[in-house]
Amino acid sequence: MGGTFDPIHYGHLVTAEEVRVKFRLTDVFFVPSGNPPHKLDREVTHPEHRYLMTVLATVTNLFFSVSRIEIDREGPSYAIDTIAQFKSFAGEDVDLYFITGADAFLSMDKWYKADELLKMCNFVAATRPGYPIEKLDTRFSGFIEIVEVPALSISSTDIRGRVKEGRSIKYLLPEAVEDYIFKNGLYRD
Ligand code: ATP
Ligand code: MG
Repeated sequence: MGGTFDPIHYGHLVTAEEVRVKFRLTDVFFVPSGNPPHKLDREVTHPEHRYLMTVLATVTNLFFSVSRIEIDREGPSYAIDTIAQFKSFAGEDVDLYFITGADAFLSMDKWYKADELLKMCNFVAATRPGYPIEKLDTRFSGFIEIVEVPALSISSTDIRGRVKEGRSIKYLLPEAVEDYIFKNGLYRD
């Protein structure tokens, strides 16, 4: 499961857990992005902060771990390179699932080498409030499994806005991540 994870929240965690159980996955790797090509409009928090928050959020789940594959890669990060690297680590006989929320799939036409990427592994799109999955481009829909997750209309954007305005972020994300945000003064300005 890739993401900016700026910060990671319960929407990400619930989605990963639902998909893990549904497809009986042996491991879920969270892959914080290095230098996201589609998020050049705002300053993304330093990758080491995003990486550590993702580690803190996933320690309580035996099946979850965090990969530095994109953080440690130079230059812009593309999903297709990440999948290729996972495939070469895991070997050809391992079934890979790429997990994302519905919003990511709705913009799939803008992904780098989308058609090629879709042939490389399984794709799972999790439902997400506000992003009608029926609008998915039919060019891609045949390749993608849709998974209903208990709806959480939580976003990192909303959490950052709340911190900036001094509003509570309790119960939107794990407590350890909340503590990390305040300890390091993230999202204040
Ligand atoms: P931002 O608001 O900064 O874009 P975000 O909450 O969308 O943050 P990302 O790091 O962009 O989080 O998302 C990583 C992946 O998790 C994406 O595939 C996204 O669709 C999915 N995702 C994020 N929040 C949810 C949620 N509440 N329910 C389901 N999927 C989600
Ligand atoms: Mg997002």
